[in-house]
Amino acid sequence: MLINYLADVLPQTRRLTRPTCPECERAYTIKDYLLLQSCAGCGRTRGARTFVVLVLAILCSLALQFFPFANLNFWATLPLMVFLGTLVVIDMEHRLVLTETSLFGLVLCLVYGVILRGLGKTLLGGLGGLLIMLAFFFTGMLFSKIIGKLRGKNIKEVAFGFGDVAAGTFLGLLTGWPGIIGAIILAILIFAAFSIVLLLGLILSKKYRAFASAQPFVPFLILGTIVIFYL
Ligand SMILES: [Zn+2]
Repeated sequence: MLINYLADVLPQTRRLTRPTCPECERAYTIKDYLLLQSCAGCGRTRGARTFVVLVLAILCSLALQFFPFANLNFWATLPLMVFLGTLVVIDMEHRLVLTETSLFGLVLCLVYGVILRGLGKTLLGGLGGLLIMLAFFFTGMLFSKIIGKLRGKNIKEVAFGFGDVAAGTFLGLLTGWPGIIGAIILAILIFAAFSIVLLLGLILSKKYRAFASAQPFVPFLILGTIVIFYL
């Protein structure tokens, strides 16, 4: 419920405001919002994402009973789960990592890192994540420039945004050093596999346009980070 709420209000207002209907901007009553009711103003039903998040969150909670995350108990894992879930939903819906969530993530992941392995390796992980993602960021920018030159026009969309750099930094704090290297390599491998499948799907359905749809990378970074904890 919290993931849905944060993903509803944060991209709009950047604060913990009352959620409003995306269609007519009428504020939901707390009861209507919690009971997943349609908008009282325009009748718009709550989006599919709301229900998908609820089902996935329940499945993740059940899975955590059998496969605890880094030997933490369920309640200690919950804040991290809500944070990462919110990040994934906002990045998928808006192709965006908010500065506010990044700052919160730096503090949260620092706390988890220190609890799990102490300050030294945690800070080193954050620094490593920052530098690796910065390298990707500049390589991506260079790549866009070259492609743009070849095609004779400017490409505004970059392969790696600054949000990805921020995410690499706080996930580095979470995994520590050298875990973050593995997390990023895994993220790239899963991302590549996903992109190939997506590309084949687009070609087969004849919707393919070269470089037309950049995919959000943060969900893959998070996936890589989670996998590293279970290896
Ligand atoms: Zn409405």
